Amino acid sequence: MKVIYPGSFDPVTNGHLDIIERCSKKFDGVIIAVLNNQGKKGLFTVEERIQLLKETTKDIPNVEIDSFSGLLVDYARKKGCSNIVRGLRAVSDFEYEMQMALVNRKIYEELDTFFMMSSPEHVFLSSSVVKEVASYRGRISCFVPKVVEDALINKFKGGI
Ligand code: ADP
Repeated sequence: MKVIYPGSFDPVTNGHLDIIERCSKKFDGVIIAVLNNQGKKGLFTVEERIQLLKETTKDIPNVEIDSFSGLLVDYARKKGCSNIVRGLRAVSDFEYEMQMALVNRKIYEELDTFFMMSSPEHVFLSSSVVKEVASYRGRISCFVPKVVEDALINKFKGGI
């Protein structure tokens, strides 16, 4: 049984990687699906995000990296996979996630969303927080792997 892990991953953090590693042990395969949102430009391009995901998950054998645009349910149907995983950090994540999970299941009845609790050491961590700290040249080595740290330093080299 495979699972789709959708998200922005702009960029991938240790919090995402924790979810990916744990899912790779529970499921036969993990399809990391980077949302290509035309309306929301990220710091990193989708290609850059995919590249960083590839480098940081290269030692996990059952991981596949892909991107999608449009509705997640349409992508899940196309992939023939009716399992979604999302990470939950705090109560604040819950309301939005529950709404999405219920809407998605309404559209695609077989679709189930699994929620994985964040590990305590990553509960405060988000791509936005890491970008904010990096933009002020703060230390980010404890939040992201080295390749991501280098990529962030490079992005903010010329100033914000
Ligand atoms: P999105 O814009 O879809 O929320 P993100 O890249 O921010 O994309 O997050 C993708 C998924 O990873 C979401 O389910 C989010 O809750 C989860 N996630 C992000 N950071 C963490 C973390 N530190 N611990 C656990 N889950 C996380």
